[in-house]
Amino acid sequence: KRKVYGDRAVIFAPLYLHNECINNCLYCSFRQDNEKAVRRNLTPQEAVDEARALAARGHRRLLLVCGEHPRLSSAACIAETAQAIYAGADIRRLHVNAAPLSVDDFRTLQEAGIGVFQVFQETYHRKTYAAMHPSGRKADYNWRVTAMDRAMAAGIGDVGMGVLFGLYDHKFEILALLQHSAHLRETFGVGAHTVSVPRLRPAAGAILQRAPYPVDDEQFQLVVAVLRLALPYAGIVLTTREAPGMRDELLAAGVSQISAGSSTSPGGYLDKDREIAAVDQFKVYDNRSLKKVLKAVCNKGYIPSFCTACYRKERTGAGFYHIAGRGELEKLCLPNALLTFKEYLQAENGQLKEQGEEIIHKALNDINDKHMRKQVKDRLARIEQGERDILF
Ligand code: SF4
Ligand code: SF4
Repeated sequence: KRKVYGDRAVIFAPLYLHNECINNCLYCSFRQDNEKAVRRNLTPQEAVDEARALAARGHRRLLLVCGEHPRLSSAACIAETAQAIYAGADIRRLHVNAAPLSVDDFRTLQEAGIGVFQVFQETYHRKTYAAMHPSGRKADYNWRVTAMDRAMAAGIGDVGMGVLFGLYDHKFEILALLQHSAHLRETFGVGAHTVSVPRLRPAAGAILQRAPYPVDDEQFQLVVAVLRLALPYAGIVLTTREAPGMRDELLAAGVSQISAGSSTSPGGYLDKDREIAAVDQFKVYDNRSLKKVLKAVCNKGYIPSFCTACYRKERTGAGFYHIAGRGELEKLCLPNALLTFKEYLQAENGQLKEQGEEIIHKALNDINDKHMRKQVKDRLARIEQGERDILF
């Protein structure tokens, strides 16, 4: 990971658009038959307001998340919301985690300027898949497992895969996921751009409250390490399903992107004080604020990064793989981490500001290439003078 990306840790937050769903996944609070779930569907303006709240905290990269619903999770609806957020909030790249779409619908999302499109297979084991997804569109294994092929055929170069660890034997799941990624690489010249590693957690109103195939902490670290070695150019994404200590440890095992200060319900960032908040998708185990997570990342020797540069400089898909394969990504990741962290620190004061400035100063002096060091130094000075969104 250090060789490919350097010592940066990319930070993002999920933004839930709605929790309506036509499916009945046994492990999820949003499932259709959960009558106790308080449902909420954000209007594009409400989504912009949530995005603005996250931007005010310092986030620049968001993951739009929604359940599966014929109208609310249609490509047109997601694209409209994405465009409203780009126009109305200081958010630089939106990734999407939604239900599988047709090639035409994926094209609509691609044209709306999304970054990564994520669909998790949850389990690659057909019998388990059938048992866990008894009804709704998601019951169709083949429609889901071919989603990445359709996304890539539509021109989305960066796709995100995932398994819900705990549903079936994790060794089988890893091998299947690697085959899935290899298939894409053979067909489209590029494999998984990201791999997410959620572990099954209790969820209010879910039928399945315990993992049939629990993955303990030690096995889980091994899962992350194996994925990191097998897919050296894929981002490994970890959410707040994991507890703080485990999250900090997993950065060393291979995780490269973490969510921070997350809410897993629609409206959850601005509605915290409402008496009836919409149901969360699952229980969050890391409730630290963004600031606290950044401190922990710094204490572990990593540089927090709010970078979105590759998606905006057309370093995507197979092109991204080539740059990473030539060992050139690290030369971009580190400077972009320094610039975006510096930007974040402009609104900070106190201990994190001091610690962050020290880290930036040291990392700048560690850049061997004199020309690059000077360029980064100049750009850091420009940020201090008020310029924003400078990227390599
Ligand atoms: Fe719906 Fe996704 Fe929850 Fe399944 S996991 S019930 S598809 S929101
Ligand atoms: Fe990600 Fe590219 Fe930025 Fe590195 S330079 S953090 S790979 S977007």
